[in-house]
Amino acid sequence: MIRIGDIIERIEAYNPDYDEELIQRAYIFSAKAHQGQIRLSGEPYLIHPLEVAGILSEMKLDEQTIATGLLHDTIEDTFATYTQLKELFGQEVADLVEGVTKISKMSFESSEDTQAENFRKMILAMTKDIRVILVKLADRLHNMRTLEFQKPESRQRIAQETLEIYAPIANRLGIEWLKSELEDLSFKYIMTEAYQSLEKKIAKSEKERNRYIEFVIRILREKLMENGIAAEVSGRPKHLYSIFKKMQSQNIEFSDIYDITAFRVIVNTVPECYEVLGIIHNLWTPIPGKFKDYIALPKANLYQSLHTTVIGPKGERIEIQIRTHEMHQVAEMGIAAHWKYKEGINLDEKDDKRFRWLRQLFEYQKDLKNNAEFLETIKIDLFPDEVFVFTPTGEVKEFPRGSTPIDFAYSIHTEVGNHCKGAKVNGRIVPLKYLLHNGDSVEIITHPQAHPSKDWLKIVKTSRARTKIRQWIKTQEREQSIQLGRDLLEKETKRYAVSFNKLYKDGALKEIAEAFSLQSVDDLLATIGYGKITPRQVIRRILPPEKLEGEESKPLKKIISKIKRKDQSPILIKGVDNVMIKLAKCCNPLPGDKIVGFITRGRGITVHKANCEKVLDCDPQRLIEAKWKMDENIRHSVRIQTACTDRRGLLAEITKELASQGADILSAHAQITQDHHAVNQFVISIKDLKHLNKIIRALSHIKGVTEVKRLQA
Ligand code: MN
Repeated sequence: MIRIGDIIERIEAYNPDYDEELIQRAYIFSAKAHQGQIRLSGEPYLIHPLEVAGILSEMKLDEQTIATGLLHDTIEDTFATYTQLKELFGQEVADLVEGVTKISKMSFESSEDTQAENFRKMILAMTKDIRVILVKLADRLHNMRTLEFQKPESRQRIAQETLEIYAPIANRLGIEWLKSELEDLSFKYIMTEAYQSLEKKIAKSEKERNRYIEFVIRILREKLMENGIAAEVSGRPKHLYSIFKKMQSQNIEFSDIYDITAFRVIVNTVPECYEVLGIIHNLWTPIPGKFKDYIALPKANLYQSLHTTVIGPKGERIEIQIRTHEMHQVAEMGIAAHWKYKEGINLDEKDDKRFRWLRQLFEYQKDLKNNAEFLETIKIDLFPDEVFVFTPTGEVKEFPRGSTPIDFAYSIHTEVGNHCKGAKVNGRIVPLKYLLHNGDSVEIITHPQAHPSKDWLKIVKTSRARTKIRQWIKTQEREQSIQLGRDLLEKETKRYAVSFNKLYKDGALKEIAEAFSLQSVDDLLATIGYGKITPRQVIRRILPPEKLEGEESKPLKKIISKIKRKDQSPILIKGVDNVMIKLAKCCNPLPGDKIVGFITRGRGITVHKANCEKVLDCDPQRLIEAKWKMDENIRHSVRIQTACTDRRGLLAEITKELASQGADILSAHAQITQDHHAVNQFVISIKDLKHLNKIIRALSHIKGVTEVKRLQA
């Protein structure tokens, strides 16, 4: 537990002329105000403002900010008032405490409007005095450090809010350690299991890694000394959340993550940074594309360093950051590194890069009256993992990293997206799957005949583009089906000398649609177009049975099948027969598997396993019930694989067993692996799933066979 004496000592060390009396008085006032209050942890409440002030003193902030840390909860939780604080500690401190109080009342999980309102307040508070947000961040950090004492429901909410709002702000302010700690603490409470398992894995390999780190550091130090460069070299594991994010984004396991350690070389001058880079690249092979020069091109939060990843000793990938002492200070302390707190932010100071983003946020909150738009805009602005590109008129647009020209096209206008034919980036034609880079100048080529395709859904990143493409495809499919349904029904009505137009006009079709529980005539026509209802079924509701001809017309067959095949199909499709049926290659269903039909116009019905991924992706309107016909005589081919030890005669035994089970072998393929194992694949013909399972059981009982499984295709 920190004491006021510790804080005072710390301030003295970096700011000898500070107003010690202010700190002492703030401490005494806070102690009195919070007297008798206890935290959920059971400790006296005063510990919290003390810890917050302690964090602020670690950030080397001025005495007003630290006094605010001590007083930050007094207006909200005690008898103290703004006027009282102003009298005792001056306007500056009173304003700061009031600012923190206002932010503390915000809840970011509330409705969109409240959320937007809260953000607006927070931005205003920050632009008035950035110290408000620094105190709030310190407050949040201590609350996160003691989150275990909160009720479980509150833990989730607070952690989520921290991860979504406060960690990005800390990052935007360039305070690296604070951002990392907030992220790790949030991670721990939001995804406890993932956190603990990762923590365990890291602890397990700790000893070995520490040895490796020391080894690398020793080599680096020696090399730099040889070259006459005075440098501080250090290495430590990256923080858990960043490792977790990497595993997620690259979809890899912990064991496949190479560079979980970041090495850091700190030197005196910028030329030395590049010199060190040269030495390192001479020593170890750099990995192409991994070098980043944030010295020439600082990050938005003013972070500067050289980053490189090399193949280090023992072939391990290691990441090395090279920076000067000054850059290091900025990286660790961010905005706090050289901000003169007393002045507040002068928004007119145009050349002050550090606050350009804040000024931008301020402009947004003034200009964007629509709350949804405002929220979207500032969230993008708080998360720097975005790319900024230019329109042909020089307007800047932001996109999530990984966006393509199609995202860009839809951001201009839905029509531009729907007719996007190609794109030029920096004057050169690029494929539509091109990934936008920072600074690209993008121009979309449209054509009246160009239209979205389903493949676009795989390459777009923004939800706007995705929604618009889906909408277009659905509308198209529906229009086609309505037209087709109309053609079919008109033909059928003609046969019976019934006027389609009359049926339409006098409301008969509307009634029939309702009888089929459909919303509209268009729905009825679309359903006919999909082949789910036959025109005959419609006619039946109009004409008496004696007028109907004997032969049932089979429109679905007409729609979807030109190739007639003998009725060998093992599958029954609800409502129709004699249509062309194909078994889907992706999941190769067998009798006994649960199945579903998918209407592919012109190509018959494709039958998938009911749980096939392709089916889950498709328009449910095009699905149709399907069942297996129980016919013993129909055979199905299926591919199976056996793994076994490579012993003499085993293959013969397997084929004998297959024969005795009544399975014909259509093809066989055997492969011996290096460790004296054999993997055999057979395509066999069988009756149904039951038959297959029996065969699999029989094969697994053969001595030496370790695994038998059915392959999908
Ligand atoms: Mn607090």
